[in-house]
This record gives sequence, C-alpha cells and structure tokens, in this order.
Amino acid sequence: MKENSLNKLKSKFTLKEDKNTGEYHIFDSFEDAYFWDKSLCRSMERVNSVNNIFFCKSEEEAIELCSKRDRKICTVCMGFMYVK
Ligand SMILES: [Zn+2]
Repeated sequence: MKENSLNKLKSKFTLKEDKNTGEYHIFDSFEDAYFWDKSLCRSMERVNSVNNIFFCKSEEEAIELCSKRDRKICTVCMGFMYVK
C-alpha cells in the first residue's frame, strides 16, 4: 500500500459516458460540488452524461473496472486517478 492510503480512501470515483463523444470520463465524487460538475480532465460536464458505468467506487475497484473497458476511457482522466 502507498503511504497516503488513508487519504485515498476518501476518494470515490464514478465513470460516466459522454453523450456527445461516446467516451467515458471519470468523476471524483469526493470533490466539492463545483468540481464534481466536471470530469477529472475537466473536458466533460456532468450534464452531458447519459450513463453511469459505475458509481462511487474506491480507487482499487475503479481501476479494476476501468481495466476491463480501457478502450473508450479518457486517458487524461485515468492519469488523474492514478496520481491521486
Ligand atoms: Zn476525461
């Protein structure tokens, strides 16, 4: 485990599908409401969501689920999730 794992437990991730591009972007459910309106990469707005692929998963769960559908997931969002 990484040394800041206690902080990481607070972050919950939600994967949403963008109705305009069909791509999946990751939203951090722990951030305050203003930031939560945009994906981690800030290029997708929550109002453009058509589908929750998963909702409020821990980092470990989110990474595992993302690895199964990595083709369409925004790589910028993935990068942000790994950094956190
Ligand atoms: Zn993204």
